[in-house]
Amino acid sequence: MGCCHYYAPAEGGDEAFSVDVSAITFGAGVLREAGDHARARGLRRVALMSDPVLAGLEHVAVARASLEQAGLDVVLYDEVRVEPTDESFLAAARFARDGEFDGFVSVGGGSVIDTCKAANLYSTHPAEFLTYVNAPIGEGRPVPGPLKPHIACPTTSGTGSECTGIAIFDLLSMKAKTGIVSRRLRPSMALVDPDCTATLPRNVVAASGFDVLSHALESYTALAYTRRKPAARPSLRPMSQGANPWSDLGCREALRIAGEHLVRAVNDAGDSEARSQLMWAATLAGIAFGNAGVHAPHGMSYSVAGLVRDFHPDGYPANGAIVPHGMSVIVNAPSVFRFTASACPERHLEAAAWLGAETRGATQAEAAGVLSERLIELMRATDMPNGISGVGYGVPDIPALAEGAYPQRRLLDNAPLPIGRGELDKLYRDALAYW
Ligand SMILES: [Zn+2]
Repeated sequence: MGCCHYYAPAEGGDEAFSVDVSAITFGAGVLREAGDHARARGLRRVALMSDPVLAGLEHVAVARASLEQAGLDVVLYDEVRVEPTDESFLAAARFARDGEFDGFVSVGGGSVIDTCKAANLYSTHPAEFLTYVNAPIGEGRPVPGPLKPHIACPTTSGTGSECTGIAIFDLLSMKAKTGIVSRRLRPSMALVDPDCTATLPRNVVAASGFDVLSHALESYTALAYTRRKPAARPSLRPMSQGANPWSDLGCREALRIAGEHLVRAVNDAGDSEARSQLMWAATLAGIAFGNAGVHAPHGMSYSVAGLVRDFHPDGYPANGAIVPHGMSVIVNAPSVFRFTASACPERHLEAAAWLGAETRGATQAEAAGVLSERLIELMRATDMPNGISGVGYGVPDIPALAEGAYPQRRLLDNAPLPIGRGELDKLYRDALAYW
Protein backbone atom coordinates (compact mmCIF):
# COMPACT_ATOMS: atom_id res chain seq x y z
CA MET A 1 0.00 0.00 0.00
CA GLY A 2 3.06 2.24 0.25
CA CYS A 3 3.12 5.38 -1.76
CA CYS A 4 6.63 6.73 -1.25
CA HIS A 5 7.20 7.31 -4.92
CA TYR A 6 4.55 10.01 -4.64
CA TYR A 7 7.32 12.13 -3.08
CA ALA A 8 10.03 11.32 -5.59
CA PRO A 9 12.10 14.43 -6.33
CA ALA A 10 10.71 16.35 -9.29
CA GLU A 11 12.51 18.76 -11.61
CA GLY A 12 12.11 22.32 -10.27
CA GLY A 13 10.06 21.17 -7.27
CA ASP A 14 10.54 21.91 -3.56
CA GLU A 15 12.82 19.63 -1.60
CA ALA A 16 11.46 20.14 1.91
CA PHE A 17 8.18 20.50 3.76
CA SER A 18 7.33 22.35 6.98
CA VAL A 19 5.19 21.39 9.96
CA ASP A 20 3.28 23.92 12.05
CA VAL A 21 0.96 22.82 14.82
CA SER A 22 -1.05 24.48 17.58
CA ALA A 23 -0.66 23.20 21.12
CA ILE A 24 -3.66 20.93 21.58
CA THR A 25 -5.51 19.67 24.65
CA PHE A 26 -8.20 17.13 23.84
CA GLY A 27 -10.73 15.54 26.19
CA ALA A 28 -14.24 15.64 27.60
CA GLY A 29 -14.71 18.70 29.81
CA VAL A 30 -11.50 20.56 28.84
CA LEU A 31 -13.47 23.75 28.23
CA ARG A 32 -13.28 24.11 32.00
CA GLU A 33 -9.49 24.35 31.72
CA ALA A 34 -9.63 27.60 29.71
CA GLY A 35 -8.93 29.83 32.70
CA ASP A 36 -5.89 27.96 33.92
CA HIS A 37 -4.33 27.78 30.44
CA ALA A 38 -4.99 31.48 29.87
CA ARG A 39 -3.40 32.43 33.18
CA ALA A 40 -0.42 30.16 32.49
CA ARG A 41 0.12 32.07 29.27
CA GLY A 42 0.34 35.28 31.24
CA LEU A 43 -3.05 36.68 30.24
CA ARG A 44 -4.92 39.09 32.49
CA ARG A 45 -7.56 40.66 30.31
CA VAL A 46 -9.12 38.62 27.52
CA ALA A 47 -11.72 39.05 24.80
CA LEU A 48 -14.09 36.08 24.82
CA MET A 49 -15.52 35.76 21.31
CA SER A 50 -18.63 33.90 20.23
CA ASP A 51 -21.75 34.29 18.09
CA PRO A 52 -25.18 35.50 19.25
CA VAL A 53 -26.71 32.01 19.44
CA LEU A 54 -23.81 30.30 21.19
CA ALA A 55 -23.40 33.20 23.60
CA GLY A 56 -26.67 32.16 25.25
CA LEU A 57 -25.64 28.51 25.57
CA GLU A 58 -23.72 26.53 28.10
CA HIS A 59 -20.29 26.34 26.43
CA VAL A 60 -19.67 30.08 26.54
CA ALA A 61 -20.85 30.22 30.15
CA VAL A 62 -18.48 27.38 31.09
CA ALA A 63 -15.49 29.06 29.43
CA ARG A 64 -16.37 32.42 30.96
CA ALA A 65 -16.73 30.99 34.47
CA SER A 66 -13.40 29.21 34.11
CA LEU A 67 -11.64 32.40 33.00
CA GLU A 68 -13.19 34.44 35.80
CA GLN A 69 -12.37 31.86 38.43
CA ALA A 70 -8.76 32.09 37.29
CA GLY A 71 -8.88 35.80 38.10
CA LEU A 72 -8.99 37.13 34.55
CA ASP A 73 -10.81 40.18 33.37
CA VAL A 74 -13.22 38.90 30.68
CA VAL A 75 -15.17 40.91 28.13
CA LEU A 76 -17.62 39.01 25.94
CA TYR A 77 -17.99 39.79 22.23
CA ASP A 78 -21.05 37.95 20.94
CA GLU A 79 -21.53 39.65 17.58
CA VAL A 80 -19.57 37.26 15.39
CA ARG A 81 -21.42 36.72 12.13
CA VAL A 82 -21.92 33.14 10.98
CA GLU A 83 -20.32 33.20 7.49
CA PRO A 84 -18.24 36.28 8.37
CA THR A 85 -17.62 39.21 6.04
CA ASP A 86 -14.92 41.87 5.80
CA GLU A 87 -17.30 44.16 7.69
CA SER A 88 -17.87 41.69 10.51
CA PHE A 89 -14.12 41.00 10.74
CA LEU A 90 -13.46 44.74 11.04
CA ALA A 91 -16.18 45.20 13.65
CA ALA A 92 -14.56 42.50 15.78
CA ALA A 93 -11.15 44.08 15.23
CA ARG A 94 -12.44 47.46 16.45
CA PHE A 95 -13.78 45.77 19.57
CA ALA A 96 -10.41 44.10 20.08
CA ARG A 97 -8.47 47.32 19.64
CA ASP A 98 -10.70 49.40 21.91
CA GLY A 99 -10.67 46.75 24.64
CA GLU A 100 -6.88 46.68 24.98
CA PHE A 101 -6.80 42.96 25.61
CA ASP A 102 -3.66 40.92 26.08
CA GLY A 103 -5.20 37.77 24.61
CA PHE A 104 -8.23 36.08 23.07
CA VAL A 105 -10.44 33.08 23.74
CA SER A 106 -12.84 31.95 21.01
CA VAL A 107 -15.70 29.52 21.64
CA GLY A 108 -17.63 28.41 18.57
CA GLY A 109 -17.45 27.01 15.07
CA GLY A 110 -15.14 28.06 12.25
CA SER A 111 -16.80 31.47 11.86
CA VAL A 112 -16.06 32.40 15.46
CA ILE A 113 -12.48 31.13 15.47
CA ASP A 114 -11.72 32.76 12.10
CA THR A 115 -13.20 36.07 13.26
CA CYS A 116 -11.09 35.93 16.40
CA LYS A 117 -7.96 35.38 14.28
CA ALA A 118 -8.82 38.45 12.20
CA ALA A 119 -9.61 40.56 15.27
CA ASN A 120 -6.28 39.57 16.79
CA LEU A 121 -4.45 40.37 13.54
CA TYR A 122 -5.95 43.79 12.80
CA SER A 123 -5.82 44.97 16.40
CA THR A 124 -2.19 43.86 16.84
CA HIS A 125 -0.87 44.93 13.41
CA PRO A 126 -3.33 47.57 12.14
CA ALA A 127 -3.43 47.98 8.35
CA GLU A 128 -5.79 48.61 5.46
CA PHE A 129 -8.06 45.58 5.32
CA LEU A 130 -6.81 44.19 1.99
CA THR A 131 -3.15 44.31 3.08
CA TYR A 132 -3.12 40.76 4.44
CA VAL A 133 -5.88 39.28 2.27
CA ASN A 134 -4.81 36.61 -0.24
CA ALA A 135 -3.69 37.82 -3.65
CA PRO A 136 -4.98 38.45 -6.26
CA ILE A 137 -8.03 39.82 -4.40
CA GLY A 138 -5.89 41.38 -1.67
CA GLU A 139 -2.22 42.32 -1.44
CA GLY A 140 -1.21 39.08 0.30
CA ARG A 141 1.44 40.82 2.42
CA PRO A 142 3.07 38.78 5.19
CA VAL A 143 1.92 39.43 8.75
CA PRO A 144 4.78 41.50 10.20
CA GLY A 145 5.07 39.93 13.65
CA PRO A 146 3.55 37.58 16.20
CA LEU A 147 -0.05 37.99 17.32
CA LYS A 148 -1.38 37.88 20.89
CA PRO A 149 -2.16 34.50 22.48
CA HIS A 150 -5.40 32.97 21.22
CA ILE A 151 -7.03 29.93 22.83
CA ALA A 152 -9.51 28.42 20.36
CA CYS A 153 -12.32 26.18 21.64
CA PRO A 154 -14.24 24.54 18.77
CA THR A 155 -17.86 23.60 19.39
CA THR A 156 -18.42 21.67 16.14
CA SER A 157 -16.39 18.76 14.86
CA GLY A 158 -15.64 20.21 11.47
CA THR A 159 -13.56 23.14 10.40
CA GLY A 160 -10.32 22.32 12.15
CA SER A 161 -9.88 26.10 12.29
CA GLU A 162 -8.38 25.76 15.77
CA CYS A 163 -5.32 24.14 14.14
CA THR A 164 -4.87 26.30 11.04
CA GLY A 165 -3.59 29.74 10.11
CA ILE A 166 -6.51 30.40 7.78
CA ALA A 167 -9.41 32.85 8.20
CA ILE A 168 -12.15 32.71 5.54
CA PHE A 169 -14.69 35.47 4.89
CA ASP A 170 -16.95 37.04 2.24
CA LEU A 171 -15.57 40.19 0.67
CA LEU A 172 -18.85 42.05 0.27
CA SER A 173 -17.78 44.44 -2.49
CA MET A 174 -16.80 41.53 -4.77
CA LYS A 175 -19.30 38.94 -3.52
CA ALA A 176 -16.35 36.59 -3.26
CA LYS A 177 -15.18 34.27 -0.54
CA THR A 178 -11.50 34.61 0.15
CA GLY A 179 -9.19 34.46 3.11
CA ILE A 180 -6.17 35.53 5.07
CA VAL A 181 -3.51 32.86 5.35
CA SER A 182 -0.49 33.09 7.62
CA ARG A 183 1.25 30.85 10.13
CA ARG A 184 0.98 33.75 12.57
CA LEU A 185 -2.82 33.43 12.52
CA ARG A 186 -2.74 29.92 13.91
CA PRO A 187 -4.22 29.89 17.45
CA SER A 188 -1.57 29.37 20.11
CA MET A 189 -3.69 26.69 21.72
CA ALA A 190 -6.69 24.52 20.85
CA LEU A 191 -8.93 23.26 23.65
CA VAL A 192 -10.94 20.50 22.00
CA ASP A 193 -13.83 19.32 24.13
CA PRO A 194 -15.92 16.57 22.49
CA ASP A 195 -18.72 17.20 25.03
CA CYS A 196 -19.55 20.28 22.94
CA THR A 197 -20.91 18.10 20.13
CA ALA A 198 -23.46 16.22 22.25
CA THR A 199 -26.31 18.62 21.54
CA LEU A 200 -25.59 19.50 17.90
CA PRO A 201 -28.46 19.04 15.42
CA ARG A 202 -28.15 16.08 13.05
CA ASN A 203 -27.53 18.16 9.92
CA VAL A 204 -24.81 20.16 11.63
CA VAL A 205 -22.98 16.97 12.61
CA ALA A 206 -23.37 15.68 9.04
CA ALA A 207 -22.19 18.85 7.31
CA SER A 208 -19.25 19.36 9.62
CA GLY A 209 -18.40 15.64 9.50
CA PHE A 210 -18.17 15.73 5.71
CA ASP A 211 -16.02 18.83 5.98
CA VAL A 212 -13.60 16.80 8.13
CA LEU A 213 -13.70 13.90 5.71
CA SER A 214 -13.02 16.16 2.76
CA HIS A 215 -10.18 18.00 4.50
CA ALA A 216 -8.46 14.65 4.94
CA LEU A 217 -9.27 13.32 1.49
CA GLU A 218 -8.23 16.49 -0.31
CA SER A 219 -4.98 16.79 1.66
CA TYR A 220 -4.16 13.14 1.02
CA THR A 221 -4.70 13.48 -2.73
CA ALA A 222 -3.23 16.98 -3.08
CA LEU A 223 -0.31 17.64 -5.37
CA ALA A 224 2.89 16.25 -3.83
CA TYR A 225 5.01 18.96 -2.17
CA THR A 226 7.91 17.85 -4.37
CA ARG A 227 5.97 18.98 -7.43
CA ARG A 228 5.25 22.51 -6.20
CA LYS A 229 7.69 25.23 -7.19
CA PRO A 230 9.77 26.40 -4.21
CA ALA A 231 8.79 29.71 -2.61
CA ALA A 232 10.96 32.76 -3.24
CA ARG A 233 12.47 32.31 0.24
CA PRO A 234 12.32 29.26 2.50
CA SER A 235 10.51 31.24 5.21
CA LEU A 236 7.74 31.96 2.69
CA ARG A 237 7.00 28.29 2.00
CA PRO A 238 3.19 28.25 1.90
CA MET A 239 1.09 26.32 4.38
CA SER A 240 -0.77 24.99 1.34
CA GLN A 241 2.44 23.22 0.42
CA GLY A 242 0.84 20.06 -0.97
CA ALA A 243 0.62 16.51 0.34
CA ASN A 244 3.60 15.45 2.45
CA PRO A 245 4.53 12.62 4.82
CA TRP A 246 3.40 14.58 7.89
CA SER A 247 -0.06 15.48 6.59
CA ASP A 248 -0.48 11.88 5.39
CA LEU A 249 -0.37 10.70 9.01
CA GLY A 250 -3.32 12.80 10.11
CA CYS A 251 -5.27 12.14 6.89
CA ARG A 252 -5.05 8.38 7.21
CA GLU A 253 -6.38 8.29 10.72
CA ALA A 254 -9.03 10.94 10.09
CA LEU A 255 -10.32 8.97 7.09
CA ARG A 256 -10.36 5.74 9.04
CA ILE A 257 -12.31 7.37 11.87
CA ALA A 258 -14.75 9.04 9.47
CA GLY A 259 -15.33 5.74 7.70
CA GLU A 260 -16.20 4.06 10.96
CA HIS A 261 -17.98 6.80 12.89
CA LEU A 262 -19.47 9.47 10.61
CA VAL A 263 -22.78 7.74 9.89
CA ARG A 264 -23.18 6.69 13.52
CA ALA A 265 -22.42 10.18 14.82
CA VAL A 266 -25.01 11.72 12.48
CA ASN A 267 -27.81 9.23 12.95
CA ASP A 268 -27.56 8.66 16.69
CA ALA A 269 -27.20 11.75 18.88
CA GLY A 270 -26.74 9.46 21.86
CA ASP A 271 -23.65 7.81 20.39
CA SER A 272 -21.15 9.87 22.33
CA GLU A 273 -18.26 7.62 21.33
CA ALA A 274 -18.91 8.27 17.63
CA ARG A 275 -19.26 12.03 18.16
CA SER A 276 -16.12 12.15 20.28
CA GLN A 277 -14.17 10.19 17.66
CA LEU A 278 -15.37 12.56 14.96
CA MET A 279 -14.10 15.50 17.00
CA TRP A 280 -10.69 13.84 17.18
CA ALA A 281 -10.81 13.22 13.42
CA ALA A 282 -11.57 16.93 12.92
CA THR A 283 -8.49 17.85 14.93
CA LEU A 284 -6.29 15.41 13.03
CA ALA A 285 -7.64 16.57 9.68
CA GLY A 286 -7.13 20.19 10.75
CA ILE A 287 -3.49 19.51 11.57
CA ALA A 288 -3.12 17.74 8.22
CA PHE A 289 -4.77 20.26 5.93
CA GLY A 290 -3.19 23.14 7.81
CA ASN A 291 0.14 21.77 6.58
CA ALA A 292 -0.89 20.50 3.13
CA GLY A 293 -3.87 22.47 1.89
CA VAL A 294 -7.14 21.32 0.40
CA HIS A 295 -7.99 21.48 -3.29
CA ALA A 296 -10.88 21.37 -5.75
CA PRO A 297 -13.91 20.34 -3.63
CA HIS A 298 -13.16 23.35 -1.39
CA GLY A 299 -12.20 25.58 -4.32
CA MET A 300 -15.55 24.82 -5.94
CA SER A 301 -17.51 25.13 -2.68
CA TYR A 302 -17.31 28.88 -2.40
CA SER A 303 -19.48 29.59 -5.41
CA VAL A 304 -21.86 26.78 -4.40
CA ALA A 305 -22.30 28.56 -1.06
CA GLY A 306 -22.12 32.09 -2.45
CA LEU A 307 -24.72 31.85 -5.24
CA VAL A 308 -27.34 30.10 -3.09
CA ARG A 309 -30.93 31.09 -3.85
CA ASP A 310 -33.32 29.45 -1.43
CA PHE A 311 -31.76 26.29 0.01
CA HIS A 312 -32.08 26.03 3.77
CA PRO A 313 -31.42 22.75 5.61
CA ASP A 314 -32.90 21.97 9.03
CA GLY A 315 -30.76 22.68 12.05
CA TYR A 316 -29.42 26.08 10.89
CA PRO A 317 -30.57 29.53 12.05
CA ALA A 318 -33.63 30.66 10.12
CA ASN A 319 -32.25 33.91 8.70
CA GLY A 320 -31.94 33.36 4.98
CA ALA A 321 -30.77 30.77 2.49
CA ILE A 322 -27.57 28.90 3.27
CA VAL A 323 -25.54 25.99 1.97
CA PRO A 324 -23.50 25.08 5.08
CA HIS A 325 -19.78 24.86 4.39
CA GLY A 326 -19.46 21.07 4.67
CA MET A 327 -22.43 20.51 2.36
CA SER A 328 -21.11 22.99 -0.20
CA VAL A 329 -17.87 20.97 -0.23
CA ILE A 330 -19.16 17.40 -0.27
CA VAL A 331 -21.62 17.93 -3.13
CA ASN A 332 -18.57 18.45 -5.38
CA ALA A 333 -16.44 15.66 -3.96
CA PRO A 334 -17.51 12.53 -5.89
CA SER A 335 -17.16 14.42 -9.18
CA VAL A 336 -13.72 15.77 -8.27
CA PHE A 337 -12.30 12.43 -7.08
CA ARG A 338 -13.53 10.68 -10.21
CA PHE A 339 -11.49 13.23 -12.12
CA THR A 340 -8.34 13.25 -9.96
CA ALA A 341 -8.05 9.47 -9.50
CA SER A 342 -5.90 9.02 -12.59
CA ALA A 343 -3.20 11.29 -11.07
CA CYS A 344 -2.58 8.94 -8.10
CA PRO A 345 -4.94 5.95 -8.25
CA GLU A 346 -3.26 4.11 -5.36
CA ARG A 347 -3.93 7.07 -3.03
CA HIS A 348 -7.58 7.15 -4.07
CA LEU A 349 -7.88 3.40 -3.44
CA GLU A 350 -6.17 3.63 -0.05
CA ALA A 351 -8.53 6.43 0.98
CA ALA A 352 -11.55 4.43 -0.18
CA ALA A 353 -10.41 1.48 1.93
CA TRP A 354 -10.01 3.65 5.04
CA LEU A 355 -13.49 5.02 4.44
CA GLY A 356 -14.80 1.49 4.52
CA ALA A 357 -15.01 0.49 0.84
CA GLU A 358 -14.16 -3.01 -0.31
CA THR A 359 -10.99 -2.52 -2.36
CA ARG A 360 -9.55 -6.03 -2.52
CA GLY A 361 -8.84 -6.90 -6.09
CA ALA A 362 -9.66 -3.40 -7.32
CA THR A 363 -7.43 -2.24 -10.16
CA GLN A 364 -5.99 1.23 -10.51
CA ALA A 365 -8.43 1.89 -13.33
CA GLU A 366 -11.27 1.28 -10.88
CA ALA A 367 -10.02 3.75 -8.25
CA ALA A 368 -12.24 6.59 -9.47
CA GLY A 369 -15.38 4.49 -9.28
CA VAL A 370 -14.57 2.81 -5.96
CA LEU A 371 -13.86 6.04 -4.08
CA SER A 372 -16.71 8.08 -5.54
CA GLU A 373 -19.21 5.27 -4.92
CA ARG A 374 -18.14 5.04 -1.27
CA LEU A 375 -18.56 8.80 -0.85
CA ILE A 376 -22.02 8.60 -2.39
CA GLU A 377 -22.96 5.75 -0.02
CA LEU A 378 -21.93 7.85 2.97
CA MET A 379 -23.82 10.89 1.65
CA ARG A 380 -27.00 8.86 1.14
CA ALA A 381 -26.73 7.28 4.58
CA THR A 382 -26.73 10.74 6.16
CA ASP A 383 -29.29 12.46 3.88
CA MET A 384 -26.84 14.84 2.24
CA PRO A 385 -28.09 16.75 -0.82
CA ASN A 386 -27.86 14.85 -4.10
CA GLY A 387 -25.07 16.85 -5.74
CA ILE A 388 -25.37 20.52 -6.62
CA SER A 389 -28.91 20.01 -7.95
CA GLY A 390 -29.78 18.99 -4.38
CA VAL A 391 -28.97 22.53 -3.20
CA GLY A 392 -30.83 24.22 -6.03
CA TYR A 393 -28.53 24.48 -9.06
CA GLY A 394 -29.19 23.38 -12.63
CA VAL A 395 -27.33 23.30 -15.94
CA PRO A 396 -27.91 27.04 -16.62
CA ASP A 397 -26.03 27.90 -13.38
CA ILE A 398 -22.83 26.09 -14.33
CA PRO A 399 -21.06 29.01 -16.09
CA ALA A 400 -21.60 31.24 -13.04
CA LEU A 401 -20.44 28.54 -10.63
CA ALA A 402 -17.30 27.94 -12.70
CA GLU A 403 -16.64 31.67 -13.03
CA GLY A 404 -16.85 32.03 -9.25
CA ALA A 405 -14.51 29.11 -8.61
CA TYR A 406 -11.85 29.98 -11.19
CA PRO A 407 -10.06 32.67 -9.09
CA GLN A 408 -9.57 30.23 -6.16
CA ARG A 409 -6.10 29.40 -7.46
CA ARG A 410 -4.53 28.71 -4.03
CA LEU A 411 -6.90 25.76 -3.79
CA LEU A 412 -7.28 24.67 -7.41
CA ASP A 413 -3.54 24.67 -8.05
CA ASN A 414 -3.10 22.30 -5.09
CA ALA A 415 -5.06 19.59 -6.98
CA PRO A 416 -3.01 16.74 -8.45
CA LEU A 417 -4.16 17.61 -12.01
CA PRO A 418 -4.39 21.04 -13.67
CA ILE A 419 -7.84 22.62 -13.35
CA GLY A 420 -8.79 25.39 -15.75
CA ARG A 421 -12.15 26.79 -16.87
CA GLY A 422 -12.98 23.78 -19.04
CA GLU A 423 -12.31 21.33 -16.22
CA LEU A 424 -14.39 23.38 -13.76
CA ASP A 425 -17.30 23.38 -16.16
CA LYS A 426 -17.11 19.61 -16.50
CA LEU A 427 -16.63 19.03 -12.76
CA TYR A 428 -19.79 21.00 -11.92
CA ARG A 429 -21.69 19.21 -14.69
CA ASP A 430 -20.66 15.85 -13.26
CA ALA A 431 -21.63 17.04 -9.76
CA LEU A 432 -25.26 17.85 -10.70
CA ALA A 433 -26.69 14.59 -9.32
CA TYR A 434 -25.23 11.28 -8.14
CA TRP A 435 -28.26 9.05 -7.67
ZN1 LIG B 1 -13.58 22.94 5.05
